[in-house]
Amino acid sequence: MTTETTQSASPDIVGNKKYCPACGKVLHESAATCPSCGAAQIVPIVGQKSKIAAALLAFFLGGIGIHKFYLGRPVQGLLYLVFCWTFIPALIAFIEFIIYLCMSDEAFAAKYG
Ligand SMILES: [Zn+2]
Repeated sequence: MTTETTQSASPDIVGNKKYCPACGKVLHESAATCPSCGAAQIVPIVGQKSKIAAALLAFFLGGIGIHKFYLGRPVQGLLYLVFCWTFIPALIAFIEFIIYLCMSDEAFAAKYG
């Protein structure tokens, strides 16, 4: 509350506001929780890795570890690539494909974002 800039604008025309999905109260855009009902506000994280993209890469190109390179694990990706002829990486990648899909966005972002 210390950085609040009280401009001459009336509350009705302040641009950076949003509505609490839980109670519908008008909040400041940067509010992490709703002061009215305490609900945590979902803040979109820009630039995070896409769970769906990683899952699709694991499914189609997982046998050569492309999804690992995508997720910033080049050493693991290289191992997949080296052992691709055994088809074991393809099997692991398929399991990872399922894991990625079952993961929540939050869990995925915490691990790979
Ligand atoms: Zn609320």
